[in-house]
Amino acid sequence: MADQNNKTKQERKETKNNEAKMKKFEIRTKDRKYTGFEDTEGQQQWQGAFTFIQAADTQLGLQERFVEKKTNPGWTKEIKWCLQLVDVVNKMEPRPKFLVICGDLIDAYPYERDAKEKETREAQEFDLKRILNGLNIPLVCVCGNHDVGDTPTEKSVLKYRKSFGDDFFSFWCGGVYFLALNSQFWQDRSEVQSLAKEQDDWLDKELEYIKTTRPVHAVIFQHIPPFIESIDERTQYFNLPSDVRKQILGKFIDAGVKYVFCGHYHRNAGGEHNGLEVVVTSAVGAQLGTDPNGYRVVNVVKDKIVHFYHGLE
Ligand SMILES: [Zn+2]
Repeated sequence: MADQNNKTKQERKETKNNEAKMKKFEIRTKDRKYTGFEDTEGQQQWQGAFTFIQAADTQLGLQERFVEKKTNPGWTKEIKWCLQLVDVVNKMEPRPKFLVICGDLIDAYPYERDAKEKETREAQEFDLKRILNGLNIPLVCVCGNHDVGDTPTEKSVLKYRKSFGDDFFSFWCGGVYFLALNSQFWQDRSEVQSLAKEQDDWLDKELEYIKTTRPVHAVIFQHIPPFIESIDERTQYFNLPSDVRKQILGKFIDAGVKYVFCGHYHRNAGGEHNGLEVVVTSAVGAQLGTDPNGYRVVNVVKDKIVHFYHGLE
């Protein structure tokens, strides 16, 4: 009995320590603006070429649950890959302006349908935040279908916002204007009509803003690619529905957006449509094709943006 009491005490202490560590994870958005830069104002000006890192699908838990089909899946491999990512990014010279993770931060869904799901999600979230706290450059989080749910609900979206910040927001960085979007609102808005409409209205205003301010580049981050290879491909799990895709890309192009960076496919892909490039980046976590686990180095120069995928090893 004494033993058990001790254990409980110890466990309570650990939980408290864990909570304290969790609190160090900073929410970097406010009122749909990214707040992770020290000099927010200065970011509106072009200061010369710079680099940022784009990654996707850290998705703690997918490898053992889906790829290896283990009965009691853990996420030690994703932990290793995420630690490698942080390590390699921290050592980069010159320092990238930020690291963006384009969704599916973790694997477990946010619905809390049972105790196991809730517990798994909390544990994955804890491990991811603990690792990302080690980054020495600003972190930008974009939500994926696993982060807000395949069919998002008001509750699941609010849960995401509380854990990682706004699900859609914008920011200036070195004279370039960036939008981060919640692509799940285009995939299934059945339970979140009003939240999805908020993003629609906000996006229209942001695109107008881009037209009037004419940034050096306008770039979009989202989880689900509008298309994987071409505008006319058929609707499937890994792209946006054809009608939505054409509608939003038309708006992006009209506003002068030339680059959309995405994830979700767990393979590298991408294509071009009317001067707009869709860049699909493979996963930090589990691979579904033949690419290595990796990330993309994005070099921003005045007249174009060039990017290269790098394996972690
Ligand atoms: Zn996904």
